[in-house]
Amino acid sequence: RAKSQERGSWCFFEPEMDARMQARRTLELDLRRAVALGEFELFYQPTLDLQTRVLQGFEALIRWNHPERGLIPPGEFIPLAEEIGLIIPIGEWALRRACSEAVAWPSKLKVAVNLSPVQFAGRGPARAVSEALESSGLDPARLELEITETVMLRDTEATLTMLQELKALGVGIAMDDFGTGYSSLSYLRRFPFDRVKIDRSFIKDIGLSHESTSIVRAVAQLCESLGMAVTAEGVESEQQMMQLEGGIRTSSVMEVQGYLFSRPQPGREVPQLCRTFGTPELELQQ
Ligand code: C2E
Ligand code: MG
Ligand code: MG
Ligand code: MG
Repeated sequence: RAKSQERGSWCFFEPEMDARMQARRTLELDLRRAVALGEFELFYQPTLDLQTRVLQGFEALIRWNHPERGLIPPGEFIPLAEEIGLIIPIGEWALRRACSEAVAWPSKLKVAVNLSPVQFAGRGPARAVSEALESSGLDPARLELEITETVMLRDTEATLTMLQELKALGVGIAMDDFGTGYSSLSYLRRFPFDRVKIDRSFIKDIGLSHESTSIVRAVAQLCESLGMAVTAEGVESEQQMMQLEGGIRTSSVMEVQGYLFSRPQPGREVPQLCRTFGTPELELQQ
C-alpha cells in the first residue's frame, strides 16, 4: 500500500515539484546576491502607550528591496534564509541597522528587533548584539529583542545561557506572538522576559469572542503579577482599543501596536511619526 501511494504521489506531484524547486533555486540565488549587495531595508512600526497613545518606540521589520519584484515581505524570504544559513548575516545587518538608525531618534524611544531561532544555534546572538550596540553607541536599555516560542522550545541550558548573556548586555527581551504555536506558561516561569507580545489572533476577536477577551485579560493580569510589560499586537480598530482600555487593561504597562495607528514605514518617516504621536520627551515638556 505504501508503495503504490508513493508511486502515485510521485507521478502526480512531479511537474509541480520541479517548478517549485526551480522557483526556490532562483530565490536562493537572488537572496545570496541580495546579501552581497545589501538589498534589505528596515521598516518601522510605532508602539504606543495604551492609555496616552504616546509613542514608546518602534519595531524594526525587514523588507527585501528586490530589483525586479519590488518590496518583498519577510514571510517570503526569512524561512529560506533560515534554511540556508543566510539569516545569520541578514540578522546581523538588521541589528546594526536598527541600532544605528535608533541612535538618531528622540532619546526615550526604544527599538525592537526580531531574532530568528536559527540565530540561537552555535554561539548565539550576544556577540552580534554587543557589536551593534558598540558601533552605534545606542544605550542598551533602548534595545529590545523579540524572540518566539520556537527559541524556548529547544529548552536547553544553552538557550537560557544565551538569553542571560543578552540580558547581561542591558537589553530587554520580549516574547513575540504569545499564544501561538507551542506556547507554554512554563516559558514565562523559566525565563524572566521583560515583555510579552500577545499575538494578533487574540486581539482580532476581542469584544467579539468571550474566549479571546478572557484570554487577553488573563494574560495581561498574569504578566502584571510576573512584572512583565505587555503589548497587544495587531490592533486594527477603535472597538478593540475600547476593549483594551476598558475591561482588559490592568495597572501594568500596556502598549499597543497595529494598523489602526500606522503600518510599518520606512526609516525616513520616523520624524513625522514622532510628530503625529508625540514622544515621551515632548510629553515631559508640557
Ligand atoms: P512579528 O514580529 O510578529 O511582526 C508583526 C507583523 O504583523 C508584521 O508583519 C506587521 O507588519 C504585522 N502587523 C502589524 N500590525 C498589524 C495589524 O494591525 N494587522 C495585521 N494584519 N498585521 C499587522 P511583517 O512585517 O510582514 O513581518 C512578519 C514577520 O516576519 C514578523 O512578525 C517577524 O516574525 C518576521 N520578521 C520581520 N523582520 C524580521 C527580522 O529582521 N528578522 C527576523 N528573524 N524576522 C523578522
Ligand atoms: Mg516581532
Ligand atoms: Mg509578533
Ligand atoms: Mg508574527
